[in-house]
Amino acid sequence: MKEQNYLDNLVGVFGHPASENCGVVIQDAAFRDLGLTNWRFLTIDVVREDLADAIKGLKAMKMRGINCTIPHKIEVMKYIDKIAPSARLIGAVNTIINDNGVLTGENTDGQGFMIALSDAGVSPEGKHIVILGAGGAARAISVELALAGARHLTIVNIPQDMALGEGLVKILKENTQVSVDYVPWEGKYKIPAGTDILVNATSVGLYPHVDDKPNIDYDSIEKTTYVQDVVFNPAVTAFIREAGNRGLKCQSGQAMLVNQAALNITMWTGLKPDKEVMRAALEQALS
Ligand code: NDP
Repeated sequence: MKEQNYLDNLVGVFGHPASENCGVVIQDAAFRDLGLTNWRFLTIDVVREDLADAIKGLKAMKMRGINCTIPHKIEVMKYIDKIAPSARLIGAVNTIINDNGVLTGENTDGQGFMIALSDAGVSPEGKHIVILGAGGAARAISVELALAGARHLTIVNIPQDMALGEGLVKILKENTQVSVDYVPWEGKYKIPAGTDILVNATSVGLYPHVDDKPNIDYDSIEKTTYVQDVVFNPAVTAFIREAGNRGLKCQSGQAMLVNQAALNITMWTGLKPDKEVMRAALEQALS
């Protein structure tokens, strides 16, 4: 009789709420395509107070890794042995790799964004980039762009969140070479002349508010500006539709999501998944 190994390799996501997290769809598609029949991605609802126990459980069950989403991305850092330099700067971890009980924390949100940009043929080096928002996604993206040699970042954020925007500017100034300014977002924001890349890093346009788009003066976007959204549901947000209708080169947040999921898989399995398979699975799940 052939020797069998019925042991599962476990990865997944800790979050609360977790039920709407579509990571499993993308990751399972990649595992199937790679022939990794004994890899399982578990969507696990973990409330804030139970995070420490969940991490103990992860180690006890020898899970290979975990993604962390709201509300755990910052809190989880205190349970991790090694934190990647960019994740430390961002101040958040969304991916943990478990090497025989030693936990390494990474932030693949920003890295996924950078690959999406590169896949679109856009380099951030020497560029002026306007980032709308100063939350978690904006932070991850700004740090990666600064480390990749962007010339100037403009962080635009609603005044209610001024501390968030100013905090991000301080981190960038103290730890990277990029020049950066903060603009309180009041009324219709005019995109400055010479902007090479415009990023919507707010949650505006996210399902179910699919007709909403960031309050900017769309006529002020120059024809040469590349436009990137972080919102991935729907695939074509009102923001991206507006950019597309104006003939601007643009890309949906789905590219960033698929790339960060692909990075997770490589970190956990050492294999490179087919991103097209993952993208198709995501599109089907959200259609
Ligand atoms: P956060 O809540 O941390 O940040 C969102 C930011 O957008 C906040 O600063 C928020 O301000 C601001 N904002 C919300 N509404 C408005 C508005 N009407 N006008 C201006 N600013 C506004 O969320 P995240 O950064 O974690 O996520 C942002 C988006 O990015 C979400 O849609 C998320 O799904 C997406 N995302 C996509 C990823 C991908 O791989 N494609 C990865 C990670 C996130 P306030 O706090 O005051 O509401």
